[in-house]
Amino acid sequence: MSLIAERHTDLDRPRFFIDGAWAEPRSSRVYHAVEAATGEGLGIAALGGEDDIDAAVRAARTALDHGPWGRTSAAERAAAMRRFADALERRADHTSTLVTRENGMPIQFSQQVNGGLPGVLLRIYAEVVEKLPLEEVRPSPKGSTILRREPVGVVGAITPWNFPQALAMFKVAPALAAGCTVVLKPSPETALDAYVLAEAGLEAGLPAGVLNIVAGDRDSGAALVSHPLVDKIAFTGSTAAGRIIGAECGRLLRRHTLELGGNSAAIFLDDGDIDTLLAGLGGASFLNNSQTCTTQSRILVARSRYDEVIDAVAGYVSAMDIGNPLDPAVTLGPMATSAQLDRVLGYIDIAKKSDARLVTGGGRPTGLDRGWFVEPTVFADVDNNDLLAREEVFGPVIALLPFDTDEEAVRIANDSDYGLAGSVWSADEDRALEIAGRVRTGTIGLNYYELDLGAPFGGMKSSGVGRELGPEGIDAYLEYKAVYASKKYLSA
Ligand code: NAD
Repeated sequence: MSLIAERHTDLDRPRFFIDGAWAEPRSSRVYHAVEAATGEGLGIAALGGEDDIDAAVRAARTALDHGPWGRTSAAERAAAMRRFADALERRADHTSTLVTRENGMPIQFSQQVNGGLPGVLLRIYAEVVEKLPLEEVRPSPKGSTILRREPVGVVGAITPWNFPQALAMFKVAPALAAGCTVVLKPSPETALDAYVLAEAGLEAGLPAGVLNIVAGDRDSGAALVSHPLVDKIAFTGSTAAGRIIGAECGRLLRRHTLELGGNSAAIFLDDGDIDTLLAGLGGASFLNNSQTCTTQSRILVARSRYDEVIDAVAGYVSAMDIGNPLDPAVTLGPMATSAQLDRVLGYIDIAKKSDARLVTGGGRPTGLDRGWFVEPTVFADVDNNDLLAREEVFGPVIALLPFDTDEEAVRIANDSDYGLAGSVWSADEDRALEIAGRVRTGTIGLNYYELDLGAPFGGMKSSGVGRELGPEGIDAYLEYKAVYASKKYLSA
């Protein structure tokens, strides 16, 4: 085993990043970060109180209303975002190893989504805003109407611990492109890596107050959601927290996008190809140790292929390389926290007491007593009313359910409070496409599942409100303003 090692010198983060500088906390609360693979202390992060959040929001407000950012051209913002991307890319090795230590994400994947993706997203939205007509003129009965797309204002971005860098940039990149200013509140579990964004932003010359970072817990998040000077909340996290945040935003008539949980279904039809399923199972069901909102934890299988698929999935998980996620050969790392491990083991215990059949796994892997490891686990004959099928486990626990007709498969897939992702596996892609059209989810894959950054991403039903990504992802950070003019202006 050879681990990818990086010398981390920034494991204590006792300050916040506010108004372009490091700010002493006004609250005294601190989070003790723990390395997921070892359970050993990693560093500390200050947790923002109401006063810290208030200072950050005021800095963002001033930068928007009086600073240069609110008056920059799209081209100037795009140039700053590309410098920001360069600065992040110079730190990519450092960021990806740090996140792997914080949350247990296998290093090869972390290099892509924590090391590489933030820069990619900044470059994508730099191009989006350069091409977007931020102003157009239409003839009107009394002269002309000048239609402007203006920044929505100060954005409060609240992110979870599972994809900390990528999910922060799902919000920060379109917000900066639109001309907004941001207060980012990362999760305590991944607070340490969040401040790399601040260092890169400083190096890139982002004006003071444009990006402020205050790590904190749910109380810090709640203070941000209800702060009177915030215009929009961009949230990724659990459905439970999303409901609370959505209710508060509704009360305040505050714009919001919510990217929430899921319990998605993969549908394997009677003509599905087992090798194709095995090639795509990692992306569909085990990404980031299955601590991914799009995890397809329910696999619905045509009864004529049921035993074959059970054997194939069991064989797949038995061959997974479990261990320290800094080892590039490892495909399944630990759960991010001890609480998360308890949660997953709790769901496994409940399933063991049900009529479902444990096929493989079901406990902690032998020889991995330190850290928050759990065996990849497969249950067959799960009922769609079982907890395993209804709730979000957020761990490597697969529920297999048989079906008799395509209609029944669609009915079971849709019999869920969630509607985030899914997949259909068939030798006939036209047939798979027709079935995918009947599944009520924001995204769905045919014979594979992989996020496309070029398309809007988000959930139906209790999986969320609104969309991120794609050129459309900038819309949530813009407001239309129509100026009625008596003069006949010509469109640029
Ligand atoms: P969580 O909801 O507990 O916390 C997410 C963030 O919200 C954290 O920063 C937390 O401090 C903050 N928060 C919690 N309660 C809050 C409140 N009442 N007001 C304001 N802020 C609050 O979720 P988690 O356990 O950190 O992350 C896992 C969840 O995130 C899973 O449910 C997963 O499905 C979801 N997720 C969704 C997507 C998506 O795009 N749909 C992507 C990744 C993760």
